[in-house]
Amino acid sequence: MTRTHDFLVVGGGIAGLSYALKAARVGRVGLLAKRALDESNTRWAQGGIAAVWDPRDSFEAHIRDTRVAGADLNRSEAVEVCVREGPDRIRELIALGVRFTPADDGDGFHLTREGGHSERRVLHFDDSTGAEVQRALVAAVRAEPRIEVFERHLAVDLITERKVARFRAKRALGIRGGEAQALLGPGGPEAWPAARQDRCLGAYALDVRDERVVAFQAGVTMLATGGAGKVYLYTTNPDIASGDGMAMAFRAGATLGNMEFVQFHPTCLYHPEAGNFLISEAVRGEGGVLRLPGSGEAFMARHDPRRDLAPRDVVARAIDHEMKTRGLECVHLDIAHVPADVVVRRFPTIHARCLELGIDITREPIPVVPAAHYFCGGVATDLSGRTDILSLYAAGEVACTGLHGANRLASNSLLEAAVFADRAAREAEAALGAARSKAPVEIPPWDEGDSVPSDEGVVVLHNWDEIRRLMWNYVGIVRTDRRLARARRRVEMLKEEIEEYYWNFRITSDLVELRNLATVADLVIRCAQARRESRGLHLNLDCPGADDARWLRDTTLRRAW
Ligand SMILES: Cc1cc2nc3c(=O)[nH]c(=O)nc-3n(C[C@H](O)[C@H](O)[C@H](O)COP(=O)(O)OP(=O)(O)OC[C@H]3O[C@@H](n4cnc5c(N)ncnc54)[C@H](O)[C@@H]3O)c2cc1C
Repeated sequence: MTRTHDFLVVGGGIAGLSYALKAARVGRVGLLAKRALDESNTRWAQGGIAAVWDPRDSFEAHIRDTRVAGADLNRSEAVEVCVREGPDRIRELIALGVRFTPADDGDGFHLTREGGHSERRVLHFDDSTGAEVQRALVAAVRAEPRIEVFERHLAVDLITERKVARFRAKRALGIRGGEAQALLGPGGPEAWPAARQDRCLGAYALDVRDERVVAFQAGVTMLATGGAGKVYLYTTNPDIASGDGMAMAFRAGATLGNMEFVQFHPTCLYHPEAGNFLISEAVRGEGGVLRLPGSGEAFMARHDPRRDLAPRDVVARAIDHEMKTRGLECVHLDIAHVPADVVVRRFPTIHARCLELGIDITREPIPVVPAAHYFCGGVATDLSGRTDILSLYAAGEVACTGLHGANRLASNSLLEAAVFADRAAREAEAALGAARSKAPVEIPPWDEGDSVPSDEGVVVLHNWDEIRRLMWNYVGIVRTDRRLARARRRVEMLKEEIEEYYWNFRITSDLVELRNLATVADLVIRCAQARRESRGLHLNLDCPGADDARWLRDTTLRRAW
């Protein structure tokens, strides 16, 4: 079956929803979300959205803070437009019905100051900003008759002219499957979207309810699939974050950049039933102390003079070091010495969630581990969200605009998604016009070939676990050449096995996500191996220190055809 729209939006977080609303002014939109529409990273954002809002703040200060966090690898133009256009995007969200916590004196909004920001500039809705943004955007999208929402539709692969031609040629020869190798180049502006040879025609998507694949054809496709935290054993991200958009774009031939820069949050609850539950950094701000299990030693003093109040990355590295050298499963975060009423009043959600799991944080320490939190890299785009495949755009965490450089400044990601989705939407009319001027291409239906239903679900489960574990152990917070080489060998073997499985058995959502996870793991490792220095979030003990002379540039990857 083929469905046709003017715009296809893959993803229903802040980037996809806000783009869809604007594209709908120009044409009919089909929007895919692989689970329910309210399941996204956006929904879980706690802190808020950064923007210059206070008259005492300035664009220059926000730009400077963003560059300092990004270890100067940021793309200047991306930082400029994001910071300067940020306040207007916030005003639009407010106009859509997004609520922000008012200031204590009732005049304007309350602004928080987060790590790395020199001013108070984070607008928030208590500690559930993302849920509020998601609520308002979903309501607006559902009320827009020109947007057709397809929940539980998992995009499997992008359809491009080149792929259609290859498919036809292969079918004539009776060949199926096969994924080519990656080409890695140390990037630089010249490696960013330039060579526009192919054109995106839409995507194949698996209707998860009946496991049938539908072809979605569109003049313009927007990838807004979010990040890839699930590549790691421990992550703050919800289950949707399996890097599908990054993997699909790579398979289609788009350029990806800076995949080595993965941000880890220092404290995620460690409990078999907890799923992904973040223990806010504010717990340390209120006096929480990190301790070794058993001895109870407060270990941060050995790592940084600021002890438990050291920046996020320093704390994450310290915990990682203690866990890896001592073979620990977790460390403890202890706030039991703070009066119980203060703890309960200040952290009602954390207190209640831990209590549900049998941990009374007013009396005992919280077991925590660092966890993969945010991908700074992704599908390379220009300032209008264009990728290097014609008619294919990307926005939000899936994209690499260059805003974050080597490390993300807190609360800049919701901002980036809103700003670049808007910039892409400004091009919607022209992009649709350009697509309509091209000769129409008939999209072949999904080819199941001789594939049969799988009776080896254990293979998917095992490989899923192995990838996430090896990424955690070898490609985590602290890296070495040997660990990366070991990870690369294993991921290559796993990829081969998964590809074989993929082409022999009928696809399921688990199999599609596993394949994507393996691809993203491979891309992270390749970029990490290529960067012969330590910068921002990428710490390699075999090449410590930043090398500005040779490495003040992006790592970029593109599939070899
Ligand atoms: C716990 C937590 C706290 C955070 N706190 C903050 C914060 O305070 N401030 C901040 O700025 N950022 C924060 N972030 C980061 C921020 O939430 C994300 O970067 C941002 O929400 C990403 O938005 P997005 O629209 O790109 O993707 P998402 O919101 O992740 O949405 C992705 C969408 O794509 C869909 N999708 C994915 N793959 C497919 C597929 N194959 N087919 C169909 N649909 C697909 C998903 O179903 C989902 O609808 C936080 C993240 C987490 C996890």
